[in-house]
Amino acid sequence: PHFSNFNLDARILRAIEESGYTTPTPIQAQAIPVVLNGQDVMGSAQTGTGKTASFVLPILQNILPLASSSTSPARHPVRALVLCPTRELAVQVADNAQKYAKHTPIRSAVVFGGMDIKSQTPALRAGVELLIATPGRLLDHLESGNVSLGQVGYLVLDEADRMLDMGFLPDLQRILNVLPKQRQTLLFSATFSPEIRKLAQSYQTNPVTIET
Ligand code: AMP
Repeated sequence: PHFSNFNLDARILRAIEESGYTTPTPIQAQAIPVVLNGQDVMGSAQTGTGKTASFVLPILQNILPLASSSTSPARHPVRALVLCPTRELAVQVADNAQKYAKHTPIRSAVVFGGMDIKSQTPALRAGVELLIATPGRLLDHLESGNVSLGQVGYLVLDEADRMLDMGFLPDLQRILNVLPKQRQTLLFSATFSPEIRKLAQSYQTNPVTIET
């Protein structure tokens, strides 16, 4: 397979090319068409397999028609939310997203704990289509009114097993409660433990299982 087979926008393909990628990795080859097709994914993939691009690329494609070049914050509601267990992973996902979105009008931001909340607020308030966050800090921003999630059509739970291990389930539940029911939910986890299966059953609709 080749990236050009996926019906991705030329602006996204150009960024892929500039990243030096020629062939999709196995998780990308399997997940990208499923996400573009509007289905939920339950994927098992370790870091290093190209997992990040397997959800970022099709999400960028899906939200591209919704991205505006307007400078009005109201025109940039969050359309896609990626939840990560750690600051390191959140920053890594955000760096990838920036790279793949650089020729598009899609705006993104990353928020995580352990850093001054005020420094993250202006970007949020300016409006971003793609938000990458750790759960606790996202709740802080929600409570402060810095961001609203009423227009989120895409949710990614990245390293979901680690988020559960770290005790984020109550935070995840609070976030999921304010998201639109009508959305696509992608869950990535190193293992499909009973707890992960339960999370998938609660928050996904007929997910396509992808194991690599
Ligand atoms: P990840 O598993 O998402 O952390 O990605 C691991 C590394 O593989 C990152 O440095 C990516 O930039 C790189 N990568 C992702 N997809 C591809 C691809 N199709 N071809 C070559 N490298 C890739």
